[in-house]
Amino acid sequence: MKIGILKESTKGDKRVSISPFITKKLVKKGFEVFVEEGAGVKSLSEDAEYEALGATITSREGVFKSAQVLVKINPFDKNDLKQVKKDHVLISQLYHKSNPELIKAIAETGATAFSMDAMPRISRAQDMDVLSSQNNLAGYKAVILGAYEMTKIFPLMMTAAGTITPSKVLIYGVGVAGLQAIATAKRLGAVVEATDIRTETKEQAESLGAKFISVENSGEESEGGYAKEASEDYQKRQKEAVNKSLFQADLVITTAMVPGKKAPTLITKDQVKQMKNGAVIIDLAAAQGGNCEVSKLNETVKIKGVKVIGTTVAPESVSTNASDLYAKNIYNFIKHLTKDQNFEWDLEDEITDETLIVKDGVQRKN
Ligand code: NAD
Repeated sequence: MKIGILKESTKGDKRVSISPFITKKLVKKGFEVFVEEGAGVKSLSEDAEYEALGATITSREGVFKSAQVLVKINPFDKNDLKQVKKDHVLISQLYHKSNPELIKAIAETGATAFSMDAMPRISRAQDMDVLSSQNNLAGYKAVILGAYEMTKIFPLMMTAAGTITPSKVLIYGVGVAGLQAIATAKRLGAVVEATDIRTETKEQAESLGAKFISVENSGEESEGGYAKEASEDYQKRQKEAVNKSLFQADLVITTAMVPGKKAPTLITKDQVKQMKNGAVIIDLAAAQGGNCEVSKLNETVKIKGVKVIGTTVAPESVSTNASDLYAKNIYNFIKHLTKDQNFEWDLEDEITDETLIVKDGVQRKN
């Protein structure tokens, strides 16, 4: 089977979908690998490194012509689709629920497409879960970015010139990114508080040393381990429970998402105005609409001395690790779908069924 690695064309994204390490493993297993010139350069993987491991370096056009399986991180775009043929199998994130036009356009090519972000959240799929591998890094880097933007340090420091009190960090959403953010902020010496709509996250947050801010819960806010859209009543209770901590925080990191929906607005403009002068909000949900009313993706909005930074963080700034982990997820997924380097998938299998969005030009999922 011939696998093609395409260069990411999304502005600011420095990752590559398959790293040299995974290329070596694929070649060793008998796959042929074609790499678009310069695909890995921004994540520090040179063409010569891929070549030395047995891959063929070629033009973008060359990859489309030579490979059957085309791998990317970001969704295939209109330009890509001009070169897609019906026997191609596309593997990338497609965000099919919010991208109906793209899915229709893929179906029109007659090709087959799998979406990595549609991976079911089950134990068996953990090593193929790109949302987890990338969000974990985003949680770490959000704290580092916040520390850089703040005018204070994190830890308690006793010096001859006086004592510096530790910074206060507040984290909304204790999922994969939130847990890593708690751990990172604690390691740096901050006093950390966290809140989440799912009550089971209290124990997880506390085990990492954060104080959990509980919001009175009706029991209907989550289902099967995932958050549901919060009711107006819950949002009101949440504001009452969290406001005191929010107005004292030096750094706020928001990570709250609801699968398949726009991110919930947890911090209004009015609340931002009541925060401390110099406070920083890092909104990791900015690409999904934002947890803060004023945040804008890839921009810093300043309101009364408070910086609100809307970012996705991992793609831009930790591209080496992000590419390595994404590549391992892809490798495990390709292993899952193949036998002796040939596709042999089972539509009864939950992982295959959930991720297969278009099959031979027929759209399977909306
Ligand atoms: P996510 O990115 O969908 O959301 C982040 C967090 O925001 C979640 O914890 C969610 O409860 C919270 N949230 C949503 N609305 C909120 C609101 N209004 N107020 C406060 N918090 C709100 O979540 P995630 O990181 O994908 O993780 C969700 C769960 O899935 C976790 O328990 C995680 O361990 C689990 N998970 C399992 C697998 C697997 O088994 N393969 C993979 C990844 C995650």
